[in-house]
Amino acid sequence: MGIRTGAQYIEALKSRNPEVWLSGKKVKNIFEEPVFYQPILQIAKLYDMQHDSKYQEDITHICEETGERISNAFLVPKSYQDLQARRRTFEEFAKATFGLMGRTPDFLNVVVTSMASNSEFLDKYNPEWGKNIRSYYKHIRDNDLFLTHAIINPQNDRSKSSHEQQDMFTHLGAVKETPDGLIVRGAKMLATLAPITDEVIVYSFPGFKPGDERYALAFALPLDTPGLRVICREAMQDGQRSVYDHPLASRFEEMDAVLVFNDVLVPWDRVFLYNNVEAANLLYPKTGIAQQPAHQSGVRGLIKLQFATEVACKIADSIGVDAYLNVQNDLGELVQSVESIRALLRISEYEHEVTATGEAMPAYAPLETIRGLLPKMYPRAIEVMQIIGAGGLLMSPTDADFENPELREDLEKYYLGREGVSAEERVHLFKLAWDLCGEAFGQRVLQYERYYTGDPIRKRAIFYNNHKKQNSFELADEAMKIFNRKNEVTSL
Ligand SMILES: Cc1cc2nc3c(=O)[nH]c(=O)nc-3n(C[C@H](O)[C@H](O)[C@H](O)COP(=O)(O)OP(=O)(O)OC[C@H]3O[C@@H](n4cnc5c(N)ncnc54)[C@H](O)[C@@H]3O)c2cc1C
Repeated sequence: MGIRTGAQYIEALKSRNPEVWLSGKKVKNIFEEPVFYQPILQIAKLYDMQHDSKYQEDITHICEETGERISNAFLVPKSYQDLQARRRTFEEFAKATFGLMGRTPDFLNVVVTSMASNSEFLDKYNPEWGKNIRSYYKHIRDNDLFLTHAIINPQNDRSKSSHEQQDMFTHLGAVKETPDGLIVRGAKMLATLAPITDEVIVYSFPGFKPGDERYALAFALPLDTPGLRVICREAMQDGQRSVYDHPLASRFEEMDAVLVFNDVLVPWDRVFLYNNVEAANLLYPKTGIAQQPAHQSGVRGLIKLQFATEVACKIADSIGVDAYLNVQNDLGELVQSVESIRALLRISEYEHEVTATGEAMPAYAPLETIRGLLPKMYPRAIEVMQIIGAGGLLMSPTDADFENPELREDLEKYYLGREGVSAEERVHLFKLAWDLCGEAFGQRVLQYERYYTGDPIRKRAIFYNNHKKQNSFELADEAMKIFNRKNEVTSL
């Protein structure tokens, strides 16, 4: 089939009935549930972009194997040009959603592409696993599917490993093998956008210990698989709030969910890894599923930071406070943050490495540096927005106020900004800012930036340890050699 349209994506959603729970109720119709409606439209818009002549050449290509047009997210990059092609898809999808939707379809499509293109690693443990991930890649590529993923165990007792938890199946694990497949039981989190996706892929971060064999798993399933239960967090908006009053929160809420597997059958051809602690611990480093998706996340993070920076700059300008040195200093800092991330992304592409199988991997160090910096830079951008907007963030009237002719004169007079900025423009701008820096929606997208790909503290520690292993401290060593106590003191 190749690239889907938005209508085809929605049609597929309507044809399924996954077990989704929201605020104590089983959702009857995903498409008609207000909290999912706008995000579904946003995702459909991305699918439609693939058919739009304005974007098509930039974000899709013809698949060598099938002759069908497919997303660049499914391209196995072999060169700098291929990395650029992938970046264009990431960038256009991120721009269309202002970087606020982290798990657009390109993200997991890149994960599966990378797992499949490096599946020789799995072949060594079990040739069936490698074969399965390669055919799964073709399945999602040729049907242009949208995936969620659940890679974290529920947050119960983090001081204990999976097999040491109070119940053997609190964390998702294999119960038994059957002729048809594996029976799995337990929970995984945090499946962002799960209710509106086609399928879920389950795998894990490294960290398995001996005894954790049954939890060392990787597989994929359609979301409406019997026994798979999706428990959503509380919705942040009910679909009743005005899209004018909450321009971002009303459109871009990505629902997060815990997935509970109640003795779910995973057919053997959907099992990519099982009962092998060593393979599970090596899955990330050996299949490039940290680096390739980090390219997508870096591009998306850049767009989100740029958007927050621009909103902060515009609110400062709209009320004339960017005339002050302190405000210029704060905004200059944000612009420099954006430029730093932009530069790091470019370096990761220029300095890509080519693996033994010929795959172009964006460079590790700059991508990990982005991963370390964004959890600080994005919250800082939000803090600057709060400081600059100050009380003005809390004075915005509503859409309904603007609609009432009795209030109109007061609104136009008392809510206007500096000369040339109308009340409506100023209020509109502050509403964008409030969604980002005040609403629960804004807090969630901030929390996302901290944690979406693991704990930034442990990730930075891993980065340092890798750096220590792979690099000598040659300048420091050289200085110690030259400035030795025993060396002669030279004078000019
Ligand atoms: C908005 C959002 C969306 C997400 N979307 C997804 C998704 O789509 N799919 C998915 O699979 N996951 C998703 N995640 C989950 C994300 O991967 C995790 O939040 C992240 O890996 C951190 O794990 P945790 O939340 O369990 O925190 P924990 O690991 O429980 O950490 C809690 C705190 O304890 C500290 N800590 C815990 N263990 C240790 C340790 N061993 N050593 C040192 N310090 C420790 C941490 O530093 C942290 O401060 C999402 C998270 C968020 C916030």
